[in-house]
Amino acid sequence: MLVVMKAQATPEEIQAVCEHIEQLGFRAHPLPGAQRTAIGITGNQGEVDRGNLEALSGVAEVIRVSKPYKLASRDVKEEDTVIRFAGTDAAIGGRDLAIIAGPCAIENRDQAFAIAEQVAAAGAQFFRGGAYKPRTSPYAFQGLGVEALRIMADIRFRYGLRIVTEAIDNESLDRVAEYADVIQIGARNMQNFSLLKRAGKLRKPVLLKRGLSATLDEFLMAAEYIMSEGNYEVILCERGVRTFADHARNTLDLSIVPAVQRLSHLPILVDPSHGTGRRDSVLPMARAAVATGADGVLVEVHHQPDKALSDGPQSIYPDQFVRMMDEIEQIAPVVGRHLPRGIHIEIAAG
Ligand code: PEP
Ligand code: MN
Repeated sequence: MLVVMKAQATPEEIQAVCEHIEQLGFRAHPLPGAQRTAIGITGNQGEVDRGNLEALSGVAEVIRVSKPYKLASRDVKEEDTVIRFAGTDAAIGGRDLAIIAGPCAIENRDQAFAIAEQVAAAGAQFFRGGAYKPRTSPYAFQGLGVEALRIMADIRFRYGLRIVTEAIDNESLDRVAEYADVIQIGARNMQNFSLLKRAGKLRKPVLLKRGLSATLDEFLMAAEYIMSEGNYEVILCERGVRTFADHARNTLDLSIVPAVQRLSHLPILVDPSHGTGRRDSVLPMARAAVATGADGVLVEVHHQPDKALSDGPQSIYPDQFVRMMDEIEQIAPVVGRHLPRGIHIEIAAG
């Protein structure tokens, strides 16, 4: 159910409706929009008695949401969600494209800084790097853990880049939440419901990658798990799915971009690195992602990919990253977007 407030409803009226919903034993999710606030109701098994709600002061109407996902749905919030990063001009969603670049894993300080310097110079606003790696083999490099998080905190300080890094379980989630600007939940964990709920209790943006064989509904329901706990800052990311095709590591499903945008207000990024697994396919698919209308791109960049401890074959060289930026900067205006080059940090007065 969704309570649509009148455009002129006061904060007190919105608060009173939320309290009424909570008193009924449900959860209220106020979702401010450009014109008016809507309040999503979750936790109800059947219909909520709409008569009482409609009688409350400031309420315009009460609507049933028929989709299985509620808070992630465009029915509940018409305008696109834009996630902003306090003290900077960076945003995910909206007109500006978000570019997240960096190595698959943080391997050591020198490697991380060498790559960060180059992606910052090319104009990325976000730096990625795995501290906790979900590897297919238990014998493969598992990441440096907190040491990697500290290195990324130093990169943030030095270059201003906002940090995106993955949490793989409850323990790493708490640590990642301390250091990161965006918490990544990987494809293998897209349906780890306890992890999703825990991430939903945090107040930090979550980048949720599509599961290896997840349908669109499953993907949006995973986002709903996070949002149902009160964290509405979810960024979706297409990263390829398993198909019969064997010319690439995965099949990058760009058709999900318009499908998500039709059904949901959440931003959607595309990861052509895991989506193809091949360096020579990353640039063409990054260009295509922007042309499709994605809100940005996440790519793996390494200055010495043949020495990389993970995902070397799909990591592009820094000079290819520069080319990617130049190309998508040209494509962006064709689809009504803009590529910001570099991040601007507000210097606090005083
Ligand atoms: C990653 O981004 O490094 C990663 C492990 O991605 P995915 O979860 O999409 O495989
Ligand atoms: Mn990787």
